[in-house]
Amino acid sequence: MFLSIRLTFLLTFPLLFACKAPKPVAQHTTLVPYGPAFAALWQQRSAEYKALCFQAYNIARFRLNEDLKSSFPKPMAIVTDIDETILDNSPYNVHVALKGENYSDKTWQEWTSKAAADTVPGALSFLKYAAEKGVHVYYITNRSEAERGVTLQNLQRWNFPDADNEHLILKTTTSSKEERRLHVAQTHEIILLMGDNMGDFSAIFEKQPADKREAATKQSAAEFGSRFIVLPNPMYGDWLPALFQYNYKQNIDSILQTQLRNY
Ligand SMILES: [Mg+2]
Repeated sequence: MFLSIRLTFLLTFPLLFACKAPKPVAQHTTLVPYGPAFAALWQQRSAEYKALCFQAYNIARFRLNEDLKSSFPKPMAIVTDIDETILDNSPYNVHVALKGENYSDKTWQEWTSKAAADTVPGALSFLKYAAEKGVHVYYITNRSEAERGVTLQNLQRWNFPDADNEHLILKTTTSSKEERRLHVAQTHEIILLMGDNMGDFSAIFEKQPADKREAATKQSAAEFGSRFIVLPNPMYGDWLPALFQYNYKQNIDSILQTQLRNY
């Protein structure tokens, strides 16, 4: 029973590659109908998802309090991703999954134009707390420049601190966030990086196959819960295309089946 549930869950991990994935996937999994909605269901309805988010932000607060005892030559800043780190886009993923579609820039921007995403549990109160302590917040996201206005609108709707043009750094030429992080680091001491995708933390994870990502994660083990604060995202992320070398033209179903560990 447990194995069956576990396998079903793995097989239904969505082929949505949503939210600024390099390319949409050519086909849906045929393994389980409506499978892609399953991960969104976990994000929306499980107590465990919320508990993990609270855990992440409780640790972030603990780390921040420690850093506040130190003095740095530059003003302190937190660099945070937006999607699935502080804003919850699961309604978008449900919408396309139930229509049998995959991620597309068109449907994604229809969603973001609503500026209707709710907050990730714990994110808002943590960032407000940080701002009260004088820490600057920079939002580094792979949303596009065309989404600047609606993104600010969504952040301002919830009163996120520093939700202005200066602190919102969108994708321009590359999905890599390294250059943008370095830009912030020129003027600020980055005390925390927050994200749901390994590329939110360091360039060492970018465009790497799954085994190299895993090795880099082990190498960075001490950073998690220290300078890196990781949020759960079962719906999409580089972890999935990393399993097939980011080559979206392959038969994704059969490749994913070879990745499953059975006994
Ligand atoms: Mg994200």
